[in-house]
Amino acid sequence: MDRTADGRLSVAEERPEQPSYAFLGVRPCDLRAIAIQDRVLAGGRYRDSGYQERRSGAFLIAAECTEPGATCFCVSMGGGPAADAGFDLALTEVVDDDGHRFRVRVGSEAGAELLSRVPHRPADPGTESTTRDAVDAARNRMGRAMPPVDLRTLMGESLEADRWDDVAARCLTCGNCTMVCPTCFCTTTEEVTDLTGDHAERWQRWDSCFDLDFSYLHSGAVRSSPRGRYRQWLTHKLSTWYDQFGSSGCVGCGRCIAWCPVGIDITEEAAALHDESAARPRRHEKEQER
Ligand code: SF4
Ligand code: SF4
Repeated sequence: MDRTADGRLSVAEERPEQPSYAFLGVRPCDLRAIAIQDRVLAGGRYRDSGYQERRSGAFLIAAECTEPGATCFCVSMGGGPAADAGFDLALTEVVDDDGHRFRVRVGSEAGAELLSRVPHRPADPGTESTTRDAVDAARNRMGRAMPPVDLRTLMGESLEADRWDDVAARCLTCGNCTMVCPTCFCTTTEEVTDLTGDHAERWQRWDSCFDLDFSYLHSGAVRSSPRGRYRQWLTHKLSTWYDQFGSSGCVGCGRCIAWCPVGIDITEEAAALHDESAARPRRHEKEQER
């Protein structure tokens, strides 16, 4: 925004041309996360035209999982190591006595067009079954699992849980978990002016619900404590996300575990909340005691 010589304000939106991105090695949990981002950012209240432009030009080459990581728990979040949808091409790696090769599945016209330009041959039945078996077997080798309970309800029942104090004593509120999470999408708006006041700019920047300013209202931050901020993050991911966007906000990729500098593990926290909830007398039991 600039002030012209006669004192009027002129506003110019600079939108750099969006490059076409190709993503190679997109994991099935990432495909599910992108589907969530599409629901959030491609329509409704959070519609983001920049995202839509970049997304429409994106080419996704998925890599199915045959060796899950120690922090993976996608199966317990309703996903799995197979790429089901949302890719242009999906690769499954095979290394056996017949050598090193990839099985390729086509998921879009753009994928078929690219594959037609790459040397390939029809998959033999042995390769088909080897890759399917390897992906199926990976389902049983997840490094972690969420407790098998209704997480949405659990979070709703845990607002006053003691466990929030425990995790708050360890959490640095650094926001790493939100920066690496493939479904976190929060941004803030930053406005700057030059010293003359004749030129101002507005920027969209990444933000995190662990940032103290994130919940700032007119007289201060609503979530001033680490307890409140961690609780907000976990409750949103596993519970209130359903109310806003119709699904969980966690795809079980495990990145927040891998990148937490103090080793906080979302599956361990959910299990601890479940244990605390299970040990708590139910409301109707308390009423019967009266
Ligand atoms: S990465 Fe770990 S320490 Fe940092 S905000 Fe997340 S849970 Fe807290
Ligand atoms: S909350 Fe953690 S495990 Fe779940 S999608 Fe985000 S980074 Fe992955």
